[in-house]
Amino acid sequence: MAEKLLSNVADFIKSPLQHFIGGKWTAGSGHAVENVIDPSTGAVICEVAMGAAPEIDAAARAAQAAFPAWASLPANERSVMLHRLADKLTKHSAELAQLESMDVGKAIVNSEGFDIPFGVDGVRYFADLAVHAHYNIPLAIKNLEARTHRVPYGVCGFIFPWNFPYDLLMWGVMPALAAGNTVVVKPSEVTPLTTLYVCKLAAEIGLPAGVLNVVVGTGAGAGSALTAHPLIKRMSFTGSPAVGRMVGETCGRNLIPCKLELGGKGAAVIFDDVDIDATAEKLAAAITLNTGQVCCTATRWIVHEKIYDQLVSKAAHALKSIRVGPALDRQTQMGPLVSRVQLDRVNRYIENGKKEGATLVLEPETLRITGHEGGFYVSPSLLAGPSNNICCREEIFGPSAYVLRFRDEDTAIREVNSLSYGLANSVWSTDLKRANRVAEKLVAGNSWINAHNVFAYGLPYGGANLSGMGGGVNSPETFNDYLRPQTIARPL
Ligand code: NAD
Repeated sequence: MAEKLLSNVADFIKSPLQHFIGGKWTAGSGHAVENVIDPSTGAVICEVAMGAAPEIDAAARAAQAAFPAWASLPANERSVMLHRLADKLTKHSAELAQLESMDVGKAIVNSEGFDIPFGVDGVRYFADLAVHAHYNIPLAIKNLEARTHRVPYGVCGFIFPWNFPYDLLMWGVMPALAAGNTVVVKPSEVTPLTTLYVCKLAAEIGLPAGVLNVVVGTGAGAGSALTAHPLIKRMSFTGSPAVGRMVGETCGRNLIPCKLELGGKGAAVIFDDVDIDATAEKLAAAITLNTGQVCCTATRWIVHEKIYDQLVSKAAHALKSIRVGPALDRQTQMGPLVSRVQLDRVNRYIENGKKEGATLVLEPETLRITGHEGGFYVSPSLLAGPSNNICCREEIFGPSAYVLRFRDEDTAIREVNSLSYGLANSVWSTDLKRANRVAEKLVAGNSWINAHNVFAYGLPYGGANLSGMGGGVNSPETFNDYLRPQTIARPL
């Protein structure tokens, strides 16, 4: 049974949602609106204002106006403010979890158990880093009194995708705010709810007006206007490589530093000494997490030939038993895909994969859930075949994995490294020497051992090659990325 909406959630979505600019809610100049769709039912949740260049301009100006005061606050005062925000987010975590699940189609147990608390941890992590960071680093150079003085950039722009709107907001924007920058955020037009709810909570704790600004809009309208805005001093983009390239090009032309966190086609290399049952369960959990809409998840399972049949059969069994259902139902392990567009994309990939000769070990079904017939449900699937199949090469972004077999270590490594993506892979073996050796040879930002999707603050996360550039997230370096180094020197 899907649970009832909390009263604060029901109130929040009652009237059309607006942009949050300079501490005020505004419908924007064009008064354009779009429906926000509940993927569990296909019904309209509410309307949201859709902004473009004028709203981005107003937001950038508001952020610019707020910058001097925010930047000159002592770091401990900014930190206290962000901890206050973290307290507020914690207090309202049930509402945030409902909104995130309703908007993305994410199983409520996951929003409550992971997304919302993990995001709050991010606020506290970066708030603490702000206090302990070094803003003046002495340089030991002959005949000079010199130091690196580190200052915030100014207005930073952020563009986010729809799969983890709340967590990406927290681990993306918080280091920038903690370092003293002000921000303009463009969430995905598909999933704006928690981002706007965070603005409401931020205003309630007294975050100064203009420090956090949010404009909802399409990529072509608001996204490109944000990327090109002359007041933006630093950009961060999370999304597909195709759009990342465009954002990077604009930033390159304007000579604006840019962080790109892009797509992936992660692999798991499974050696023949693993606990087969446990590994199959974990891989099934990885590919169904957030309905497979996870940039770094294990989509290609490269399995040692000795255990291939057994592991594939166990994994298929585990995938079949995943409970697919509405996001707000506590029994649901995997919710719907985020949108009709995404459902069509997943189905199209699988059709094309079949046409190219993939075998369906586990066939996906487009599900109709009683009482939720309009939802975008698909069951997990498992494909097998040659590695040049489209489903093995391209990011499907759904609960569908592709299995390959290998005999020797070098072949497995070559297979993993055969794509241009380089976000995250995993190696599964009880021989930790081998696991570490292979992990080092996989070309990606992240190599995990005996687990997939490993996240923690302090553990840097980012992509290589087609999966991103510019520093990654979640680490002390991320915080430093939002400080501009300035050398101050005096000859002695
Ligand atoms: P997308 O690239 O289509 O859109 C991402 C954002 O960019 C949206 O807000 C969109 O409105 C905006 N956008 C679109 N066109 C734009 C333009 N011309 N200029 C500026 N902004 C524009 O991606 P998506 O479909 O929302 O998300 C899925 C993708 O995100 C996948 O490739 C996934 O792997 C990737 N992703 C990566 C990470 C990571 O940390 N590496 C995390 C989550 C998602």
